[in-house]
Amino acid sequence: MLSPVLEKLLVFQDRDLRRLALETQIKHVPEDIATERRRIEEDRAGVEAAKVAGREAEAKRKALENEIGVAAQKVARFRTQQLEVRKNDEYQALGHEIDTVQAQIAALEEQELVVMFAIDEAKDRVKAAEGAAAQSIAIHEGRIRTLQEKEATMRQDLAALQADLEKARVEVPEPALATYVRIAKRVSLPVCVPLRELRCSGCNLKVSSGVSSDARAGVKLVTCENCDRIVFCES
Ligand SMILES: [Zn+2]
Repeated sequence: MLSPVLEKLLVFQDRDLRRLALETQIKHVPEDIATERRRIEEDRAGVEAAKVAGREAEAKRKALENEIGVAAQKVARFRTQQLEVRKNDEYQALGHEIDTVQAQIAALEEQELVVMFAIDEAKDRVKAAEGAAAQSIAIHEGRIRTLQEKEATMRQDLAALQADLEKARVEVPEPALATYVRIAKRVSLPVCVPLRELRCSGCNLKVSSGVSSDARAGVKLVTCENCDRIVFCES
């Protein structure tokens, strides 16, 4: 049997538990929002990495074009020199130089083709990364909005609950409330727990026969010898 004091205490505890649950949920919101923001940063970093690869390929192409330009100037210079030399062996030596540099130019142009292909690929990758990131970011931003709305609702619920909690608190006689508060400082909620097959359902240990018979009588508040929670019999 439940004493009238315990009945009031259980009403208070029920609201106190809901308060704790709400406060715990509210406490996790900033962390959840931070996780979503981190994901958005990761999406943006993915796009940036693809862009960097593209820029690097562009820079490589420019460097190759410079090299090709320098080599072409060399060829032009050799050709001018060829017009000026008189001896045949000098002319042939220059011709040989020209062949060497032209072979270098051909090799550089082949490298440039590979790089141009890489530039095209990088462009495609940037486009794909941007598309995927935009979709993903929209999802994360949606989740952030939902979390913010949920937090606002929970804060309203908490304010309403605190008023209800206060109403329940004033109903509980002072000594019982003081006992509850004292125990709540030492153990996790709930403070008032039912006995199940002579076991305290807070710590799961058996209580003495004295405690169980007092709990059954329901005249005064009885506590578990092990965890100090208030124990009661449900029927
Ligand atoms: Zn216990």
